[in-house]
Amino acid sequence: MEFTYSKYRFLLELLKHKKYEFASYSNYKAISKPVILRHDIDNSLTKALEIAKIENEFHVKSTYFVLLSTDFYNIFSKSCNAIIKEIINLGHEIGLHFDEQRYIINSENELERYVEYEKKILEGVIERSVEAVSMHRPSKWILENNIQFRSLINTYGAEFFITFKYLSDSRMQWREDVIGIINSERYDKLHILTHPFWYAHDSGNIKSRIKGYINSAKKERYYQLKENITKLEEILELEEVL
Ligand SMILES: [Zn+2]
Repeated sequence: MEFTYSKYRFLLELLKHKKYEFASYSNYKAISKPVILRHDIDNSLTKALEIAKIENEFHVKSTYFVLLSTDFYNIFSKSCNAIIKEIINLGHEIGLHFDEQRYIINSENELERYVEYEKKILEGVIERSVEAVSMHRPSKWILENNIQFRSLINTYGAEFFITFKYLSDSRMQWREDVIGIINSERYDKLHILTHPFWYAHDSGNIKSRIKGYINSAKKERYYQLKENITKLEEILELEEVL
């Protein structure tokens, strides 16, 4: 499947056509043919908002997992916070995307302590409860140990890999034919992970997507500085850096 917005719309239409019901990590048990759509936001909240709007066109609800420990965006900033609120207002859930590399963690108890710590911060910032956590670049230890938390659903728990057919677009590559699998209706429960970062209007490849992101950062940085340096344009015009 190509990583375009039109193909993503097609995927949603196909799921609807095959009578899958869009579920969250906490309500899927009451649904006979659930599909959980999970989006990990590794780099860009703006890209996530694009996908959130497309899903809203189809009355589809999904879960967006945000990172706290990242250099790419800051959930405390006014603009990022506004985007998260907009995603919520479009009907979606927010989950915690957790980077275990951020801490020194030697046991499940320590992992739970840090996950709980970030969950509370996130809940405070978005002013609503957070029900699920997904791990950013999960270690073998996470993947193989069916770790359960007291107050958060672990999306890497065995439940979401055994009773569900799991499909992921990691590294801009579907390891299996996602469209073919949906079409076949071989599975009653689907768990689909996408990274909004890979999707755009045009079809591209991993190199063009990454290059595009790096290039757009110049403009973004310029406007961030403009918020902080009075009359920046008298010092440097945007055109001079592009
Ligand atoms: Zn991630």
